[in-house]
Amino acid sequence: MARGKKIYEGKAKILFEGPEPGTIVQYFKDDATAFNAEKKDVIDGKGVLNNRLSEYFMTGLTQIGVPTHFLKRLNMREQLVRSCEIIPLEVIVRNFAAGTMSKRLGIEEGTQLPRPIVEYCYKDDSLGDPLVSEEHIAAFGWASQQDMDDILGLALRVNDFMSGVMFGVGIKLIDFKIEIGRVYEGDFQRLVVADEISPDSCRLWDIETNQKLDKDVFRRDLGSLTDAYAEVARRLGVLPKTGGHPKPTLVN
Ligand code: 5GP
Repeated sequence: MARGKKIYEGKAKILFEGPEPGTIVQYFKDDATAFNAEKKDVIDGKGVLNNRLSEYFMTGLTQIGVPTHFLKRLNMREQLVRSCEIIPLEVIVRNFAAGTMSKRLGIEEGTQLPRPIVEYCYKDDSLGDPLVSEEHIAAFGWASQQDMDDILGLALRVNDFMSGVMFGVGIKLIDFKIEIGRVYEGDFQRLVVADEISPDSCRLWDIETNQKLDKDVFRRDLGSLTDAYAEVARRLGVLPKTGGHPKPTLVN
């Protein structure tokens, strides 16, 4: 499929105009960044794996009635998605303490939380995506109260789905980040899960060994990121059970 004009290039993806109005082609790069792009590398095969994994999660969400921007995968690195207006928030759901929550509150990483905790960060790289409260969101008009109720509902449904899928393959969903987009249909707007869901935006630990199978492998220099992501894909059946990296043989 001929690609349209480049709309935006982010740290891990490039967006192009799609073939139909209201569609976008999302291209997954191999670039990995951490600590607000202070640490950077190119990880052979990461984009291919994230394209497949995000397709897998978004398709599953659609099947259980959670609206997403995903339309179809086009090839190894590209997927067609609905164009939407991204709400400038990172919506984080945590089941176990880790990362910035552990640092902020002094809770040991891996401690199970009394219930899932939803946090919001204002999406602005130049500010380091600061944590904000619903008060900030309402006062600055980033989302309405109705949007916030819907976002919370979506975030918790994604959490239940992702936790269950991961539990089924021996992985603990520690936390994750999603982004929410507005899709306009006539006079109405609908909120959908947008961007991507992949090991770049989740913390995934092996249930038995607590081995990290997510971007912390890159952030903390814990080994091969492609091996970790390929292991997640293999367990989910997105990759064959055998076969190695870094150029995985993909099924279908
Ligand atoms: P933390 O706040 O502990 O750094 O991150 C919480 C969760 O959200 C982790 O799963 C992390 O991967 C994800 N997350 C937070 N900020 C970002 C971001 O800017 N990009 C991506 N891809 N994931 C993020």
